[in-house]
Amino acid sequence: MEPDASPVAPILAGLRCKCPRCGRGDLFVGFLTVAERCAVCGLDLARGDSGDGPAVFLIFILGFIIVPVALMVSMRVDWPLWLTGLVWGVVILGGTLGLLRPAKGVVFALQYRYRPAEFEAPDHNDRDPGA
Ligand SMILES: [Zn+2]
Repeated sequence: MEPDASPVAPILAGLRCKCPRCGRGDLFVGFLTVAERCAVCGLDLARGDSGDGPAVFLIFILGFIIVPVALMVSMRVDWPLWLTGLVWGVVILGGTLGLLRPAKGVVFALQYRYRPAEFEAPDHNDRDPGA
């Protein structure tokens, strides 16, 4: 399939965890496992690699939001230590796990938008051993 004439918005496709080229096929086959190919347009998704980018972005974004909020809450209420650990543990784990898929989808889609050649490059495993 030829790329669509109207490009897919990478942020929107990433947040929806959809293929960065067609915006319709699912990007993931598991929680964070990227599909080999898009089931709709056939884009070779296995060539993309978001690396540690999504996790690093979430560390900064969630840390920037949660740490000040946790400090403000701890100055206003006197929770026991176990409740503080429980509440903020749930908030941090829930926020991280809830945002990791969309963050990975956005980084993946931006990678496709700005470096599409990485998805088109010949596979290193297909090289002729005699060459
Ligand atoms: Zn697709």
